[in-house]
Amino acid sequence: MSTVAEVETAQPTPADQPGIREGAFGNARSLACRECGNEVELGPHYACPECFGPLEVSYDFPVVTREEIEAGPRNIWRYKALLPVPDDIEQSPNMEPGFTRLLQARNLGRELGLEKLWVKDDSTNPTNSFKDRVVACALSAATEFHSKVFACPSTGNLANAVAAAGARAGIKTVVFIPSNLEKPKQVNSAVYTDSLVAVNGNYDDVNKLASEIAGEEDGWAFVNVNVRPFYAEGSKTLGYEIAEQLGWRLPDQVVIPVASGSQLTKVHKAFGELVRLGLVEDKPVKIFGAQATGCSPVSTAYKAEVDAIRPVKPDTIAKSLAIGNPADGIYVLDICRSTGGAVEDITDDEVREGILLLARHEGIFTETAGGTTVGVLKKLVETGQLDPTLETVVINTGMGLKTLDAVSDQVGPAATIDASYAAFTATGIA
Ligand SMILES: *Cc1c(COP(=O)(O)O)cnc(C)c1O
Ligand SMILES: [Zn+2]
Repeated sequence: MSTVAEVETAQPTPADQPGIREGAFGNARSLACRECGNEVELGPHYACPECFGPLEVSYDFPVVTREEIEAGPRNIWRYKALLPVPDDIEQSPNMEPGFTRLLQARNLGRELGLEKLWVKDDSTNPTNSFKDRVVACALSAATEFHSKVFACPSTGNLANAVAAAGARAGIKTVVFIPSNLEKPKQVNSAVYTDSLVAVNGNYDDVNKLASEIAGEEDGWAFVNVNVRPFYAEGSKTLGYEIAEQLGWRLPDQVVIPVASGSQLTKVHKAFGELVRLGLVEDKPVKIFGAQATGCSPVSTAYKAEVDAIRPVKPDTIAKSLAIGNPADGIYVLDICRSTGGAVEDITDDEVREGILLLARHEGIFTETAGGTTVGVLKKLVETGQLDPTLETVVINTGMGLKTLDAVSDQVGPAATIDASYAAFTATGIA
């Protein structure tokens, strides 16, 4: 452990770094180590030089009012004062993600026995997952660092978002995926970029390769590797939106899917910032994490009541959550435990059931990650871990058209008939 004052590399402002303009990161002050608190200058850094802990953006927030936010655009830039982006961010071509619907889910709530349930539906983002949020923040940082290439290792959705955002910004993209990824997710990247690289291996292998390339090549911004601190801040906007859309109130409970764990930790951070800024009243919010049993290192550690996460080899249809060695897993454990939440996991069959539950009760077609989250919500109620009388938000992070195969054997025509009224009445559907 060391204090800020002892670190020689710590104090320069962004303006002192060659090529980085004044105000490039808005109200962000520094990158602070999550483990030891050591602060380093804002730059393409992600590991603490003192202890190798993960770096996180810290801020000197000005006074921010609800009115200022409400007067902003209907996308994540309404919260730009709370993000590491310049004040003129809206002038750069970007995907303008966010401000997705928060829907009251009366039917699903009734089905699961919950008195007040909301779905935060991020499937309507530009590339149909919450990843457009994090990528927009990473793209801003990459632009300010004058990066030549915008890249990522991905479980699918991130590659889609990076490829599209890079195309719109006019920056070269290279995206890396496990070669066994669902075909629709591959096509959803390849339409935007000619540099989709399929790697024989799982996500953790792809991630390792990306770190190696990031170390060798100059000018590559790997959104979730060397600009990860900036990328991660984008997930805070999910938390801001939930609170604003509830009428500047925090919910009692939130259920969030866990891959690397970044999203869950940042939604939690967002709630804390809103309280500190006086934008919402302080109240306890229980945070719940959702995993598929075939890749459940965080849930396993939660249930075993241990602090260390043992990496696993993923084997689940929830491929967007298939990270066997989650970077933020230990922080997820800490947050879920300290807020009175939990981390739970479900089988692939329960993931499919979760997809159909959301589709048939609310008209929202989610991918396997959302099936995981909804299925875990159901299990949390059934096992008494989640209080059904409290106001609950479940986050749908993705879109079912990308994982059609997961349910295509379970749903289909109720009947195939000749085009005659007699044939139709014979089906018994009328
Ligand atoms: C990436 C992803 C997640 C989880 O993200 P982490 O921040 O890595 O935990 C959840 N849902 C979907 C659909 C994703 O693509
Ligand atoms: Zn440190």
